[in-house]
Amino acid sequence: MEQESISKKIAVIGCGAAGGLASVLLVKNPYNKVTAFDVKEPFSTLLPTGGGRCNITNSEPDVREFVKNYPRGEKFLLSVFSRFSQKDTRKLFEDLGIKTYVQSDNRVFPVSDSSKKTVEILRSHLNCDNFQFKKEKVLKLEKSGAKYIIETENNQYKFDTVILSSGGNTESFKLAKNLGHTIIEPQPSLCALDIKEKYLYKLAGLTIKNAEAKINKYECNGDILFAHKFITGPCIFKISSQTAYNELPFEISLKITSYTKEEIEDEIKNNPKKSIKNVFSKFAPESFINAILINNNIEGIKQTAQIKKQEKEILINSLLELKLHAEGRIKDSEIVTAGGVDLDEIDPKTMESKLHKGLYIIGEMLNIDGYTGGFNLQNCWAGAYLSALNI
Ligand SMILES: Cc1cc2nc3c(=O)[nH]c(=O)nc-3n(C[C@H](O)[C@H](O)[C@H](O)COP(=O)(O)OP(=O)(O)OC[C@H]3O[C@@H](n4cnc5c(N)ncnc54)[C@H](O)[C@@H]3O)c2cc1C
Repeated sequence: MEQESISKKIAVIGCGAAGGLASVLLVKNPYNKVTAFDVKEPFSTLLPTGGGRCNITNSEPDVREFVKNYPRGEKFLLSVFSRFSQKDTRKLFEDLGIKTYVQSDNRVFPVSDSSKKTVEILRSHLNCDNFQFKKEKVLKLEKSGAKYIIETENNQYKFDTVILSSGGNTESFKLAKNLGHTIIEPQPSLCALDIKEKYLYKLAGLTIKNAEAKINKYECNGDILFAHKFITGPCIFKISSQTAYNELPFEISLKITSYTKEEIEDEIKNNPKKSIKNVFSKFAPESFINAILINNNIEGIKQTAQIKKQEKEILINSLLELKLHAEGRIKDSEIVTAGGVDLDEIDPKTMESKLHKGLYIIGEMLNIDGYTGGFNLQNCWAGAYLSALNI
C-alpha cells in the first residue's frame, strides 16, 4: 500500500535508442512503474546502426571538440555532455554488460561488433516487473492538472511523468507541439544529394577517395560515392548536414585529386607523346576522367602535346575545383533529422521541459543532429541518463 502511494507512473513514448535506455535506467528503481509505448519492439531502431555494428559513441576526449560535431545543438550539448560524456556512455554500457572498443577513427563499437547482440542485452534489462511494453502508437498527449493523458487508438492512460522520445518524425513533433512546444522546421540531414550535373550519374558505383569539398566558408573531406540518381558517402553526408537549411540549388566545389596544379602541369609537359586520357588517369579514376572528357567533347586519345589551352584548363579545374550544384535532398535517404523541439524550451541539466513539469524530451526529437561517427547516439544516451536521473 505504502509502495503504491510513493511509486511513480512514468510513460516513455517511443522506445528506440533514447527512450529504450531511459526505460532501462528507470526500472532500476523498483518504485518507478514504467510503461513504454512503441509500434516496434524496444531498441529496434538500433539494429541498422553503424552498418549492423552499432557505432555507440565517439572517443573524442575533449568535450569542446566533441560538440563541434553537431551543426545544431553545440552549445546545449556542451552542458549536457559535461554531465554525461562519451566516457560515461562507455562505462554505463560496460555496466550493462556491453564492452566497447575504439576503432582507429575514434568510433566506438561494442566488442561483439553486433547491433543485434547489443539490442538483445539492452532488452534483457527490461525483463522486470516494473516495466510494461505497450505495442501501441501514441496519437495524443495532453495535460490534465498535474497528470499526463496518453491516447492510443483504443485506450487512454494517465501518468505522472512522461518522457517524449519518439524520434525525428513529423508525427512525433505534433505530440510536442500540442503541448505548446516550438518546433524548428524539420529538414533531412546526413542524406544523399541530387546534383544538376547528371552526366556524373553514369559513374554509378565509383567512389572518389578522400575528396575535399568547399561550400561557401565551410570545408570538409571524405569519400564520395556516385549512384544512379544521387551522390552520397561521408563527405556528402557532412555537406548535407551543414547545408540542411541552405536554399537549393547551392554550389559545391570539389578537389578530387591529391595532386597540385603544378604537379599536374609538369606531368603533362613531361609526357607530350602520351594520350590525354592516359596522363590524366594518374590523377583520378579513369571512368571519372572519361566522363569529363565526353562531357566537354575533348578527345582523350589525342597526345598531350596537342591539348588546347582551354581543354587543359577544363581538365585541371575538374580535378581541383569541380563545380557541382546540389538541387535536391534525396527523400528517405536521411540518417537523421535536423530541426525539432526548440532547445530554448528544455533544461540541459535535466532534459525537463521548461513549459511543463514532469515532461522530458530527449533524443532526435530535439533540434539536435550530429555528423556520423557515434555523435547522434551519444545525444540519445546522455538525454536518457540525465532525464532518468532527475525523475
Ligand atoms: C541506417 C541508420 C544508421 C545509423 N547509424 C548510427 C550510428 O551508428 N551511430 C549513431 O550515433 N547514430 C546512428 N544513426 C542515427 C541514430 O540511429 C538516431 O539518431 C537515433 O536512433 C535516434 O534515437 P531516438 O531514440 O531519438 O529515436 P529512434 O531511435 O528513432 O526511436 C524512436 C521510436 O519512437 C517510436 N515512435 C515514433 N512515433 C511514435 C508514436 N507516435 N507512438 C509510439 N512510438 C512512436 C518509433 O517507432 C521508434 O522506435 C543511424 C540512423 C540510421 C537511419
